[in-house]
Amino acid sequence: MTTKRDYYEVLGIDRNATDEEIKKAFRKLAFKYHPDHNHEDKTGEKFKEVNEAYEVLSDPDKRASYDRFGHGGTEALFGRDFAGFDFGGFGDVIDAFFGGTTTASRRTPRRGADLSYLTVITLEEAARGCEREIAITRTENCSSCQGTGCRPGSKPVRCSNCNGSGQVRRVHQSLFGRFAHTAICDKCHGEGRIITAPCPRCQGTGRERQERNISVTIPAGVDNGSQIRLRGEGEAGTRGGPAGSLYINISIKEHEIFSRYNDNILYELPINFTQAALGTEVEIPTLNGKTSLKIPAGSQTGQVLRLKGQGIPHLRGDGCGDQLVKLFVITPEKLSKKQRQLLAELGESLSSANTPNPKKWKGLS
Ligand SMILES: [Zn+2]
Ligand SMILES: [Zn+2]
Repeated sequence: MTTKRDYYEVLGIDRNATDEEIKKAFRKLAFKYHPDHNHEDKTGEKFKEVNEAYEVLSDPDKRASYDRFGHGGTEALFGRDFAGFDFGGFGDVIDAFFGGTTTASRRTPRRGADLSYLTVITLEEAARGCEREIAITRTENCSSCQGTGCRPGSKPVRCSNCNGSGQVRRVHQSLFGRFAHTAICDKCHGEGRIITAPCPRCQGTGRERQERNISVTIPAGVDNGSQIRLRGEGEAGTRGGPAGSLYINISIKEHEIFSRYNDNILYELPINFTQAALGTEVEIPTLNGKTSLKIPAGSQTGQVLRLKGQGIPHLRGDGCGDQLVKLFVITPEKLSKKQRQLLAELGESLSSANTPNPKKWKGLS
């Protein structure tokens, strides 16, 4: 049976030592007895002893218990393991003291990467909504080993280089002394385990590329630049992390006759001057088929007629935009002899009241 030294004695401090003094003493001794510096103490016994003393005395509860009951008290209250550690697991304390940086373990689950896909649809499809089947290639968990990377029936073994922690401690020599930091174990690449019998399908990576056809419902009302997010359809996560998202980016093809302004559809309608002067009814295209439009007598170029509800449905909320019909009065370029005669007669009959006065012209409304 080995008897434990008194923790205060180990750290060489007074029983009334302040936290600052405890810290200072530990810092000095941990540096002195660190296995990287102290080559006489190959097993690291001294170092362990110093660490154990510090772990108890730096914790007010453990220290109070130790002061009252001694070694037995701390173990009874906090368990035997409280001071149990191995060098691999102690990097954090050393780093905190000597300014090293702790490299995050690579073994935590990670969400898979997001993927994006551009799909081009027509204006009609944007107005009505549509279904798209898209083909993507993404990384998934290997279908043979379910992402473990091990040949079915085998298991990975603990990495002997890092003792399963995935991290190793490194010491750097600098002008200011030696600095310790933790680095990812290069034998297991931070996994803490090594696959001895790799899955033949994925060569032990646990992942494979898969081509997938994914159907996407594109809602009515989408616009250029709209994005649809499909959660869980991106790249597979690692170590049990969730898959990323697949973003479908929408691009709308230019339309031959319509243009879009927010949820309204613009349509330009050329008419001749008798249609404009006398008024008429014409058949025009809309996104929902043909419809007839009344053009009032005395219409002008630039005048906009509105077809309520014939635009694009609002993506959020009820209702639709409108179709806006902009009129252009076109002057005929070729006239027959008869038409010229009729127009000449018309011209003579038009009084000055029917002739635009440039001084009163206010431009197109
Ligand atoms: Zn596999
Ligand atoms: Zn390792």
